[in-house]
Amino acid sequence: MSYSNEYRKNRAALMELKLPCYWCNTPWTPKFQADHLVEKDAGGDDTPSNLVSSCAKCNQQRGQKYKTRKENARIVARNKAAGLTTSPARTKEKTGNKTETFFESTLSTDRKSVV
Ligand SMILES: [Zn+2]
Repeated sequence: MSYSNEYRKNRAALMELKLPCYWCNTPWTPKFQADHLVEKDAGGDDTPSNLVSSCAKCNQQRGQKYKTRKENARIVARNKAAGLTTSPARTKEKTGNKTETFFESTLSTDRKSVV
């Protein structure tokens, strides 16, 4: 993954603030990372409003969940192309002490293979 100059600059500024983890409130350490609230390939940018201070654990956890959601979206698209219907369901996922809400596939049979 390559980082833009804007990201580097804003990440450095964010780390200067030594904020606790946005997700679980763990006190800041030099190992903290700048986490994108809206992932880059989902259209998120590198502006300070899209970056939060995150411990490595929460950042990694969110990365994993994001991959799972993308996989679910791929399955929905595939089923749509095959003429099958799936209805989007609202799901809640917890990262640290924050809960995020996402829409994703309800295909229970396929979900087992991606989780
Ligand atoms: Zn955390």
